[in-house]
Amino acid sequence: MGAALHRLIIIDNKSMSLPTVAGLSKFSTVDYPGYLCAVIYTQGCPCRCRYCHNTSLQPGQGSSVMSWSTIMGWLTTRKGLLDAVTFCGGEPTVHKSLLLAIKQVKALGFNVALHTSGLYPHNFANLLPHLDWVGFDVKAPFARYPDITRIPGSGGKVKESLERMLSRNVSCEIRTTIHNTILNGADLVLMAQELRMIGVSRWVLQRFNKAGCADLELIASPTTIDGDLVARLRAYVPNILVR
Ligand code: SF4
Repeated sequence: MGAALHRLIIIDNKSMSLPTVAGLSKFSTVDYPGYLCAVIYTQGCPCRCRYCHNTSLQPGQGSSVMSWSTIMGWLTTRKGLLDAVTFCGGEPTVHKSLLLAIKQVKALGFNVALHTSGLYPHNFANLLPHLDWVGFDVKAPFARYPDITRIPGSGGKVKESLERMLSRNVSCEIRTTIHNTILNGADLVLMAQELRMIGVSRWVLQRFNKAGCADLELIASPTTIDGDLVARLRAYVPNILVR
């Protein structure tokens, strides 16, 4: 998920103290639509999606190079220059202390965006009242999630997070990465039906991006997004953007 790394890593302290910051993308125009933002990357994601382009952020431990107080000091100098801070990963919601970090960023006057796979519905629900925008990855039909993430039961957790987010009317983008080796037409039709049932009316289909991907088979395999299929999907989710 998220942008290419420049990079910032957050590692939860063992206590509920604020995260430790290890890197930073100081300026982005693509990680929060319509806003100029800094991007904070968090270390750790339990998923093992084949198309992941931030695989170095999957392990739970990583090197820390910047303190949270340093990043807060830097953000103080960005008031009036940046609109927002986007938390990205890895999977940011794996960190319970993310809520404290978000509150501190908001107290400086910045909007806060989050990129998430929705794997932790309870933690995500606690964050929702403080989020201005969410980029939410829907990876597969819910029953097929373990094929993508390698985590049993992950589809049910993502569905719960998605329902909680939609019930709060949080501004969001629901997006799916498309590679024909991983999702076929039947999968996408089933996803469209499931998304409609939940109340999704806008869906972004993202072409697989080989940058940073470590899966040589995926990189070597051709993949397309078929226009006729997209037209069929629009019967269920009317507003589909392909990018
Ligand atoms: S959810 Fe998948 S794509 Fe996103 S960081 Fe984790 S492994 Fe990578």
